[in-house]
Amino acid sequence: MHILVVEDEPGLREGLTDLLRGDGHAVDAVGDGLAGAERGTAEPYDLVVLDLMLPKLDGIDVCRRLRAARPGMPILMLTARGSEDDKVRGLGEGADDYVTKPFGARELLARVRALGRRAPTESVERIDADGVILDLARLVVVRGDDRTPLTPREAGMLRWLHRHAGRAVTRAELLEHVFGQRGDLQTRAVDMAIAVLRKKVERDPARPRVIVSVKGAGYTWGAS
Ligand code: CA
Repeated sequence: MHILVVEDEPGLREGLTDLLRGDGHAVDAVGDGLAGAERGTAEPYDLVVLDLMLPKLDGIDVCRRLRAARPGMPILMLTARGSEDDKVRGLGEGADDYVTKPFGARELLARVRALGRRAPTESVERIDADGVILDLARLVVVRGDDRTPLTPREAGMLRWLHRHAGRAVTRAELLEHVFGQRGDLQTRAVDMAIAVLRKKVERDPARPRVIVSVKGAGYTWGAS
């Protein structure tokens, strides 16, 4: 899933991001309510993990705005311990579920998975790319009778490129959203991973038609 985390406490924000990435999700994280409302209305996330007490715009208002802009987007609210009123208000404003702080990793992931199953799937998990079937849910490339396994990271790269078809995806972007790393130092790692991936998904890796290079920018989805 592609998940937006809106949490102002830096330690918790980073912890949530690491936890969700470790569970195989692509995560964007912001630290205040206004940024959360902007990101969440701009992009169709599969899930928003939304803290209730936030600077600039509180969680209830963020929830209201997201609900208005994207009615089907699941929202998991993080509330403070014992504040029953907050939970009721959150659910009343359209949050799909809530977790009370402090929560354990296992509890949070269970809620995230439950909401993911309920979500209308905006992400495509089975893609016909140039006659090659990319089954991202089962982590396999099917070409006639041949089956080539994909790693979760490779599936993540394909998912990200496919989701953003029509524009160039930068190496830094893949590093951040799929590899879970920031910075430009390791962009070479992206190129190497793409080279391996092309051998799995391209009919002719020397003339890629699915993952197309964009000079000076990065990569773009090339299949129809
Ligand atoms: Ca907070």
